[in-house]
Amino acid sequence: MDIDSSEDFQKIDVANKATRQIGLVRKDCLEQGIVDVETVAEAYHAVKLDQAKTGIWCYDNFTEGGSNSSGLVRSSAHLGTKECIIWPINHYLALNRHPKVVDAAIDAIRTFGTGCGTSAMSGGHSSLHKLAEKRLADWMGKEEAILFPTGYSANVGAISALAKGPSCFILFDRECHASIIDGVKLSGAKFLPFRHNDADDLNRKLEKYAASYENVLVVVESVYSMTGEEACLREIVDLKHRHNFLLFVDEAHSFGLHSDRTLCNKLGVTENVDFVMTTLSKSTASIGGVVATTPAFKTLMQVEANAYLFQASIPPSDVAAILAAMDVIEMEPQLLTSLWSKVGYMRGKLKGIGFDTGEGTSPIIPVFVRDSDTLLKMGQAMYEDGIFTTSVAYPVVKHSEVRFRFILNESHTYDQIDRTLDVMEKLGRKFGVI
Ligand code: PMP
Repeated sequence: MDIDSSEDFQKIDVANKATRQIGLVRKDCLEQGIVDVETVAEAYHAVKLDQAKTGIWCYDNFTEGGSNSSGLVRSSAHLGTKECIIWPINHYLALNRHPKVVDAAIDAIRTFGTGCGTSAMSGGHSSLHKLAEKRLADWMGKEEAILFPTGYSANVGAISALAKGPSCFILFDRECHASIIDGVKLSGAKFLPFRHNDADDLNRKLEKYAASYENVLVVVESVYSMTGEEACLREIVDLKHRHNFLLFVDEAHSFGLHSDRTLCNKLGVTENVDFVMTTLSKSTASIGGVVATTPAFKTLMQVEANAYLFQASIPPSDVAAILAAMDVIEMEPQLLTSLWSKVGYMRGKLKGIGFDTGEGTSPIIPVFVRDSDTLLKMGQAMYEDGIFTTSVAYPVVKHSEVRFRFILNESHTYDQIDRTLDVMEKLGRKFGVI
């Protein structure tokens, strides 16, 4: 980042640039009547440069050698390169480094080449893609599955195709992922969020609105990405006895992490969930998104989901990695036992030290800071102490809910966890978080 060019950007009046949450820049601009997009971009850039100068800019850091439980991380602020314990990566089972997964991807490149060159509908799928769809459908307890290039585009594509236009109504959990919300907006359906993980609120909204629409789609996540909390899926499924709706569950943060493969399976609700979706970038350490459902709904999505129709499909090597990761999950169940033991250990210790880690139970462990300035400053100090994690700030979450997010994976050692806990305890006291 070229700090010297920052002078040009000082003209825009953005309060406290060095500690300002970057998510507030648009609001600042609007309050000053600035709508010109070039000026808004300059305002964003000024905040980024100022934060980089003081070292609190914490985004866009990158690993020198790829995703791992530790390694060299380069700060995109002026904090240099640091050997860090790495916490922001969703490779829950660390299968991106598993020799069987790596070999399968390399072999597939030799056989199938790189890239697909076109979308599935126009011939971009290979026999590997078809095998993956079949196997994923099986794991997810449905007859069919449809493979999208990413989890993001699976949600956007599927939701916008399933609830098309104003005769449809979508109710979604307030904390759903941006890809779900973008799909909802693109659908052209009427929509409302319901209170986070609150089946009573969902019930009230179904009672009030559902009867006025031809189709009602309810969208939730099985485990919420910002808190690691499980959804109250049984209660939501029970509402199907009272109301007529289709249910869509995003299993991004639970797929492959249970012996039953999905949380819907584990809770015995798959039959009552119409669409089970997951991304393939997390436990299966690849890329891709999948929606498992009936043959008829699959056909509808093939024909109406632009993200499927007009987007090149996943490269064969990444599909081979997904299939190999599924093999490993089946053949090495100790990986799951080990991951869940570490989750229990780290969550218990953080709570014991006095941190607020919320209500979750999953490998996503939030540490609530609840003050934006403290979040940025403590994040910088953590990096300087060799702990690399995500600072979740506004507008991703409310100001009162800003937090660090640790994502445990099976390759994190107990030593790495303990060292992280020591740093967190020291800094938590220093910054008054505990
Ligand atoms: N759904 C949820 C709940 C997610 O957390 C994410 C990504 N974090 C996605 C969908 C999108 O998946 P991907 O990044 O693999 O496209």
